[in-house]
Amino acid sequence: MARRKKIYEGKAKTLFEGPEPGTIVQYFKDDATAFNAEKKDVIEGKGVLNNMLSEFFMNGLTNIGVPNHFIRRLNMREQLVRACEIVPLEVIVRNFAAGSISKRLGIEEGTPLPRPIIEYSYKDDALGDPLVPEEYIAAFGWASQQDMDDIVSLALRVNDFLSGVMFGVGIKLIDFKIEVGRVYEGDYQRLIVADEISPDSCRLWDIESGQKLDKDVFRRDLGSLTDAYSEVAKRLGVMPKGATPMTKPTLIN
Ligand code: C5P
Repeated sequence: MARRKKIYEGKAKTLFEGPEPGTIVQYFKDDATAFNAEKKDVIEGKGVLNNMLSEFFMNGLTNIGVPNHFIRRLNMREQLVRACEIVPLEVIVRNFAAGSISKRLGIEEGTPLPRPIIEYSYKDDALGDPLVPEEYIAAFGWASQQDMDDIVSLALRVNDFLSGVMFGVGIKLIDFKIEVGRVYEGDYQRLIVADEISPDSCRLWDIESGQKLDKDVFRRDLGSLTDAYSEVAKRLGVMPKGATPMTKPTLIN
């Protein structure tokens, strides 16, 4: 049997060539990293949870007409996605202050922002994904002005969807990051949501208690990451409610 071709290995995922042209298999690893990989661990079950949660969110986006790369889940750790050219930006949307914006501006974490704020980091591990002003993006040719209009529209639609879904299960969406990719259809190019949407790339706080249910649990040593992600998965119905926290999650279907 031929070995499948690895295209790229990232910190939390590995990409393989897909079975048909224009497809990619996205494998979710258990590796957790923070602070540009200065802090590292392997958290058994994290990849399984993120695979299922990202499937849930991407399917939800498809249902409301927000284009994204997800095709179907293949197994516990892998999903088939549409190949796209990743725009080299991390698109961050913030509803409440937390993390780097709190640090940078001295705003207390949890402070509501006057409106959703979108910011961009240039995707470059060696540089630590620096925050960049919007003016750099067109100037350096990372994305055109038309692309930026589409990126803002995608980011705000994802924000509305995710905020609503999370609010419905008693969770506040503090902020999140998405990546977008370019696909070509005939003479046209289109931007779609790519990568993953999971508690690795969002800040999620319980509305009542303020408990953190996202990667800050790992970044700040606040307890078990799989317990936090399992709680999100249970509330969303991705994982059976009665299941006890586990290292190898049992998941619906
Ligand atoms: O660290 P910062 O406050 O800028 O992060 C904002 C949001 O973007 C958080 O939800 C964080 O998890 C996410 N993020 C990410 N990948 C990065 C940087 C930030 O998913 N490389």
